[in-house]
Amino acid sequence: IVCTCQDFDFFYFVQQWPGSYCDSNKSCCYPNTGKPASDFSIHGLWPNYNDGSYPSNCDPDNHFDPSQISNLTRRMQREWPSLACPSSDNLRFWAHEWNKHGTCSDSILNQHDYFATALNLKEHINLLQILRHAGIEPNGELYSLASIKDAIKGGIGYDAWIECNTDPSGNNQLYQVYLCLDTSASKVIDCPVFPHGKCNSKIEFPQF
Ligand code: 5GP
Ligand code: 5GP
Ligand code: 5GP
Repeated sequence: IVCTCQDFDFFYFVQQWPGSYCDSNKSCCYPNTGKPASDFSIHGLWPNYNDGSYPSNCDPDNHFDPSQISNLTRRMQREWPSLACPSSDNLRFWAHEWNKHGTCSDSILNQHDYFATALNLKEHINLLQILRHAGIEPNGELYSLASIKDAIKGGIGYDAWIECNTDPSGNNQLYQVYLCLDTSASKVIDCPVFPHGKCNSKIEFPQF
């Protein structure tokens, strides 16, 4: 008997800053749909366990099927662009996210609802606006990690985890923002566990 019950404890909702993805040694390529907006974009919605581990690639028979999200494509192109090289129409990135992560929460969110839920979250949680209100702008300046975290906590009410990467000259920069969601992905919660990885106490917020 195959268990189709929910088998994870919470979601990470992960957004990326395109300026930091591109401003790294691996560089980036704009998708065929053009240069993405100067805004955070979705990386993924990832089921996770409270011990920090996570399920992945849960159902090889449950393939990504673009026809199930055809009514979301325009919003997906805007909010979930792929910056990996070579340039693509983004479908490869969405398929990767569905196959690796989405198949593990399919008992809660089917393929259409998985992507629709991430889009709705992105459109409600305006990180760039929250940071701007706190005087934190993507202008290449350094900001304290604490000030970034305080601004997000003030704007959303919950702690975020910041992932940093480094630019080619070795500067630490704001790369990804992790928020935690309950198992229905309907509300932000306190993270049961945070990811790992170090940021300097002051990090760059590069332009894009
Ligand atoms: P990286 O090694 O670059 O941090 O992550 C590579 C990939 O592993 C991510 O794109 C994501 O698919 C997965 N991953 C890394 N850390 C986590 C985590 O804490 N939870 C989940 N669910 N996936 C993760
Ligand atoms: P993860 O496994 O960490 O969920 O996703 C990372 C994978 O998605 C990598 O194979 C990466 O090449 C691909 N990818 C495609 N576009 C993007 C993008 O815009 N950002 C990130 N972080 N990964 C991307
Ligand atoms: P604390 O729990 O005292 O706030 O932080 C413990 C350690 O985690 C410190 O080294 C601190 O710099 C680091 N840290 C706190 N918040 C974050 C974050 O959002 N991202 C990263 N990468 N490190 C953090």
